[in-house]
Amino acid sequence: MTSVHTDHHDHDHDHAAIEQVDRPGYYEVMETAIRELLIAKGLISAGDIRHQIEVLDSRSPALGAAVVARAWTDPDFKRRLLADGRKGCEELGISFYDDTQLIVLENTSEVHNLIVCTLCSCYPRPVLGLPPDWYKLKPYRARAVSEPRKVLAEFGTHLPDDVEIRVSDSTAAVRYLVLPLRPEGTDDWSPDELAAIVTRDAMIGVIPVTIGGEAA
Ligand code: FE
Repeated sequence: MTSVHTDHHDHDHDHAAIEQVDRPGYYEVMETAIRELLIAKGLISAGDIRHQIEVLDSRSPALGAAVVARAWTDPDFKRRLLADGRKGCEELGISFYDDTQLIVLENTSEVHNLIVCTLCSCYPRPVLGLPPDWYKLKPYRARAVSEPRKVLAEFGTHLPDDVEIRVSDSTAAVRYLVLPLRPEGTDDWSPDELAAIVTRDAMIGVIPVTIGGEAA
């Protein structure tokens, strides 16, 4: 029997056919064209691009969570972090590969902070990595400003009416990170234990930090 590979071949497991997508989309063509031009003109090298991709891939919410846990356990660090978010993060060895400023917004029992980029998708990437898809979509970008309490409720976050919601609009130059409220019952927790419960969404401000992930 000859070995002919078809979509209906016999396997001891099921899988979809692997399809070759041979026509790149608009943005892929644009990216390739710009990249090749920049390299041809000697403005950047292929190595520069690879290095930058590695830097971006190295960022994740675990970095922001470590910053939050440190702020919860070290009042002096928290003071410095709130005074200058970027310098505070740099103290913990987090580098900023761009010219963005970072402002850390502290949640309290009176004020809850929420971050958004109404224009596009500006986000504290050096400390959180890539933004979630919903953060980049128009409904969130518009409604976070026009009806933040409703948006929070859709994330399962129901704040008392007397808690003020402050929405901060990120820009190309200024990014925000929310310092969530430390949950009760964590007084004797280590920074590592605390960091493990700090989620990306809590640092955007759409949910609180909870023990064991129960709803607020
Ligand atoms: Fe933006």
